[in-house]
Amino acid sequence: MASITMGELVKVYPGGVRALDSIGLTVEDGEFFALLGPSGCGKTTLLRTIAGLEASSGGSIQIGDRDVTNTAPGQRDVAMVFQDYALFPHMTVTENIAYPLRIKKVPTAERTEKAAETAAELGLSDYLARRPGQLSGGQQQRVALARAMACHPKVFLFDEPLSNLDARMRLEARTFLKRLQRELGVTTVFVTHDQAEALALADRIAVMEGGRIRQLGTPKEVFHRPANTFVASFIGSTPMNLLDAVVSGGNLVIGDQKLPVPPEYAGGALGDGEKLVLGIRPEYLSYSTEPVQDALSGEVTVIENLGSAQLVTLHGGAGFVQVVVDEEVFLKAGDKGYAIPRTDRMLLYRDGDLIDAGGDAAAKDAAGRKAGAAA
Ligand code: ATP
Repeated sequence: MASITMGELVKVYPGGVRALDSIGLTVEDGEFFALLGPSGCGKTTLLRTIAGLEASSGGSIQIGDRDVTNTAPGQRDVAMVFQDYALFPHMTVTENIAYPLRIKKVPTAERTEKAAETAAELGLSDYLARRPGQLSGGQQQRVALARAMACHPKVFLFDEPLSNLDARMRLEARTFLKRLQRELGVTTVFVTHDQAEALALADRIAVMEGGRIRQLGTPKEVFHRPANTFVASFIGSTPMNLLDAVVSGGNLVIGDQKLPVPPEYAGGALGDGEKLVLGIRPEYLSYSTEPVQDALSGEVTVIENLGSAQLVTLHGGAGFVQVVVDEEVFLKAGDKGYAIPRTDRMLLYRDGDLIDAGGDAAAKDAAGRKAGAAA
């Protein structure tokens, strides 16, 4: 096992696309780490650069205590599982799993035995003589994992390995992958554009945009305290409400409605007249059919069934606001509704960045504001 350290890693493709823009990151020994972001943000490039399949244009990569920046892929002690699994169609399951060992010139009997052992760990013993075309998607994925495991690499690199599976299989494979990674304890970097997958699997997540890391944190951190509005809008199965607000006399004025400034921000971190964005997840608004204080009101326009709950879109003076409502509340379009925010879950963004009113940043912020006002 080993950690992976990237220092100011840059990748510029011929033609000038800057796919990685000074990435500095350490993936800890044994960690399950997700690279998450929209299409084109550079996550596959970063994974392939760690694998040595792409040469970097600048910066360094270290695996364990070894600098591998200029080391050939085969010498890096990493195993990669690709989105399409890249299994050899003419080879049996055993031959596919044993292939990396064959490249390493492990004798036939030994590699067949190792392949069978690894296959058994992944529940593939009954399929050893089959070819990939005779397996389900989930079984093929396990063969690809077994092939990656067979030579006991220091690092696993997964490039969207679940995306070819149907929704149900994907959930099963996700749980399986997490258990396997825990059991093996191998440092793992996992690329996905699916935020739910990253939240479910990873110890930590790097959310990327335009070749840069926009936030690095645990699933809880990126879910509860997105560092900027990009991450806020990208993370969460129901998108976060992001509402334009103006600070005025202890209130946030949102369109023609208002809410009190949440207690976390009440200590002088905000200036009167400041334009901010209020972020609040639909799960952290409660719903009332009767008028209540400190709520955003509107007319029910859309009701989406989430199974055990419903996602209700209200349209009113504050714009569109989405609220997760208990399945048992009977609602119809045109009803008047009230969304009451949980004040400890209200987040405020200034120029797109989270105002961290809870810690030192808040004090610095307030001091800077006072100094600005005095000047
Ligand atoms: P996806 O989820 O769609 O695979 P990604 O986040 O993995 O996207 P990359 O494949 O790493 O993104 O691509 C990052 C950027 O680099 C994109 O703008 C892409 O068009 C560009 N790019 C990728 N490969 C090449 C290449 N071989 N030559 C030139 N540009 C490339």
